[in-house]
Amino acid sequence: AADWRGRRVTVAGLGVSGIPAARVLHGLGAHVTVVNDGADERARAQAAELEAEGIEVRLGEDGSPARLPEGAELVVTAPGWRPDHPLFATAGAAGVPVWGDVELAWRLRDLDGRAPAPWLAVTGTNGKTTTVRMLASILEAAGLRTAAVGNIGVSLLDAVLGDERYDVLAVELSSYQLHWAPSVRAHSAAVLNLAPDHLDWHGSMEAYAADKGRVYEGNTVACVYNADATDKPSTEDLVREADVEEGCRAIGFTLGTPGPSQLGLVDDILVDRAFVANRQKQAQELAQVSDVNPPAPHNIANALAAAALARAFGVEPAAVREGLRNFRPDAHRIAFVAEVDGVAYVDDSKATNTHAAEASLAAYDPIVWIAGGLAKGAAFDELVARSAGRLRGAVLIGADRALVREALARHAPQVPVVDLDRTDTGAMAAAVREAARLARPGDTVLLAPACASMDMFVNYNKRGEAFEEAVRALAAGDA
Ligand code: ADP
Repeated sequence: AADWRGRRVTVAGLGVSGIPAARVLHGLGAHVTVVNDGADERARAQAAELEAEGIEVRLGEDGSPARLPEGAELVVTAPGWRPDHPLFATAGAAGVPVWGDVELAWRLRDLDGRAPAPWLAVTGTNGKTTTVRMLASILEAAGLRTAAVGNIGVSLLDAVLGDERYDVLAVELSSYQLHWAPSVRAHSAAVLNLAPDHLDWHGSMEAYAADKGRVYEGNTVACVYNADATDKPSTEDLVREADVEEGCRAIGFTLGTPGPSQLGLVDDILVDRAFVANRQKQAQELAQVSDVNPPAPHNIANALAAAALARAFGVEPAAVREGLRNFRPDAHRIAFVAEVDGVAYVDDSKATNTHAAEASLAAYDPIVWIAGGLAKGAAFDELVARSAGRLRGAVLIGADRALVREALARHAPQVPVVDLDRTDTGAMAAAVREAARLARPGDTVLLAPACASMDMFVNYNKRGEAFEEAVRALAAGDA
């Protein structure tokens, strides 16, 4: 392990990744300076706490951005800091390397001198959390000591430095984290899909794709790609561009019949043609579609990607099936809430962009769609055009609902639309009542906003809870 004593490290950002990073590096004997853009009350309190521990903190005053301290040898940044922050320009000009939280965890993973657990990494625009949880469930079913970590809310630093021993880690990585993780080398990795998102941060689609593609760099066993993707660059293109270890294989997953070196579907069975022992490369049955929860197309794709990574790690088919069966989706991700008067109510509050909403809209028919919120610069034309045939009606809420309404007028003029013209939190209950009026028995009322929630709610969780509460009220007859 490297000697950190006396090294001058700048930690950029007080927060969930900055504070633990500062503490760990300070504990290793580094000379740590934390810099922060803002100086609000919370930052002052956190700064006081760190200073009491002997860690230097410099808060940005008067709204001026944080600056690189004199003599810095390394910057460890919170993943959310934009690459165009002036601090990184200064660091770049001075030849000072910049690491994110994931890079730091990677570099410290063998600190205790024991062999570190290999990483199975997952990234993509949508489906990361679901896939990583499915993967962890499969690995557990195989009897392996594992955890779902990373962007999922469990810090990688905690996982690699904690007392718990792991055989393998299921790691969710965001495009931000990958941007700042130059030397991470996964055992195997998957890019689930690529659709425009966070482009303001990355600067362009090319830069976003390049950061996602980083996850394949140095893979030793398998680079798992989406064989159904039609957009360019495809995830397969990213595999081709990556510099991988000799013998590392490109493994596709598809909702169609799999070719050699692919996992896919044959009738209603998830099959593997990539990791089969016999020479004929016959398909190995892994699980039934009904083992996947929920069995919506995009989610079967997630399951195939998780299965591919597990199979790359040597997991047997029986454990893939058991792990998928044990898996329960996280809240607000295509979650069935209740059936009221023959109408199903489904909460996909986590569909915060159009690509995600398209996946859940593809899973039901007919749909009364509740949508709207903060559009983050997105266009809704494609989403609406592709889903128009399945819409019974739409109920719109939130700040940017006009964008959705206009797309509906252009591509689905026959669909009745209720524009609630509201952004207060009570609007969700009204939206559910309106949706109930539009729906007929057999329909699905689907909250898939295709937008962020922060115009009306603290986060997508709160938005989903408001929806579920309103549905329960409706079921109880007191809506
Ligand atoms: P992430 O961690 O990437 O945000 P999640 O697993 O939390 O992804 O899923 C977020 C939302 O994205 C889901 O609620 C669903 O609407 C959508 N989604 C999930 N998997 C996929 C997929 N493979 N393709 C497209 N959309 C998906």
